Amino acid sequence: MKVLKFGGTSVGSAQRMKNVAKLICNGEKKIVVLSAMSGTTNSLLEIADYFYKSNLDGALEHIITLENKYRDVVEELLTTEEKRQEARSILSSHFDYLRSFAKSVFTIFEEKAIVAQGELLSTSLFQLYLEEIGENSILLPALEFMRIDKNAEPDNAYIKQHLNDLLEAHPGHEIYLTQGFICRNAYGEIDNLQRGGSDYTASLIGAAVNAEEIQIWTDIDGMHNNDPRFVEGTKPIPMLHFEEAAELAYFGAKILHPTCILPAKLANIPVRLLNTMEPEASGTLISTRMNKGKIEAVAAKDGITAIKIQSGRMLMAYGFLRKVFEIFESYKTPIDMITTSEVGVSVTIDNTKKLDEIVNDLKKLGTVTVDHDMVIICVVGDLPFENVGFQSKVVGALKDIPLRMISYGGSNYNISFLIKAEDKKHALNALSQALFSEE
Ligand code: ADP
Ligand code: ASP
Ligand code: MG
Repeated sequence: MKVLKFGGTSVGSAQRMKNVAKLICNGEKKIVVLSAMSGTTNSLLEIADYFYKSNLDGALEHIITLENKYRDVVEELLTTEEKRQEARSILSSHFDYLRSFAKSVFTIFEEKAIVAQGELLSTSLFQLYLEEIGENSILLPALEFMRIDKNAEPDNAYIKQHLNDLLEAHPGHEIYLTQGFICRNAYGEIDNLQRGGSDYTASLIGAAVNAEEIQIWTDIDGMHNNDPRFVEGTKPIPMLHFEEAAELAYFGAKILHPTCILPAKLANIPVRLLNTMEPEASGTLISTRMNKGKIEAVAAKDGITAIKIQSGRMLMAYGFLRKVFEIFESYKTPIDMITTSEVGVSVTIDNTKKLDEIVNDLKKLGTVTVDHDMVIICVVGDLPFENVGFQSKVVGALKDIPLRMISYGGSNYNISFLIKAEDKKHALNALSQALFSEE
């Protein structure tokens, strides 16, 4: 069985939903994961923000705008009065639910319940359309099987058991439709897998059902060799190794959720990135196969903070790094990049919620310097150290740009640089020019 995920743009209008239906109705049994229609999750977050600020008029105004948009979608998507009526009453229940938050105390829990409405709406409407055109489809509610634990990590055993139970309870369908992104947490509350999390849903489902392939359908013809939002003339990469794709996703290639490759890699399920607007394009196949010796792509991760800790005590000492890492661990703040010298260590983080506390504690170990508004540039490919010369090529491309940190050797797949945010576009373009202009 294959798992197919369609992102926000792919289901962004009634016409696009109809196109998706054409792509998936081919007689094969499959699981289809949908995101919210594009723009919806942002609108829902905006509505939540008005509720937070106790601006009920602002929230209600945005709810009406969104509701009107969906009412138009229903009229365009469905043709029979019966299905339209069903859809209208589904819309009423979701939008009345949104309005009901005007009466309650507003916290992060309410925000998560609001933000979940996008995927609930898109899948309900799409299911009605599939029924209207006579497709054998069933909607499996993600909130009944998708779950995260106390550390916000997927509860794989729970997901596997509950999803497979649901599939067994409903045999004989061609399309098993479900919501991306949304889940329940360890306390049974509505939660989510973070922005862009529908990709993660697809790979978790793929692993849970041991799918033959996970397809991520989006608005571009696969993983490109650089970020098309900042560099012109980027090209799709036909084939990537799981490790390469995981590095690119983690280090900012927005086409994939940062952690969505891991479940597929562990279960050895190939992931194919495909374009809904150009379904014949071959896209990118992510698997255990790799192009030997090739630099494949460049990505950038924004919003990085660098922290340097310098101490004479580090010289020849053991245990210093452990103390540094323990501080980050105690504040549950992951470190992305790390570089060391005999007298100091620099690390980067992207979650700055506990920055003040971390810096306070680090000051007990040495002199601390913090640089905000930095970007990690990550160059990915088959890069073992025996592959002589690639480092100089990469560093040479960045010769005009101040490099705050350089990291290589942690894996055979990546060399990373920390630069100022203002140099990002220049760096990405310089790397494309140096690495890919002859391809
Ligand atoms: P979806 O809504 O389908 O999940 P996303 O917007 O999350 O789609 O991801 C697709 C977008 O990712 C593309 O439109 C493109 O602008 C952006 N992107 C960033 N880096 C890359 C890359 N290296 N290759 C392809 N797309 C990329
Ligand atoms: N709808 C969610 C978002 O916009 C999840 C996703 O699209 O993958 O982040
Ligand atoms: Mg996405």
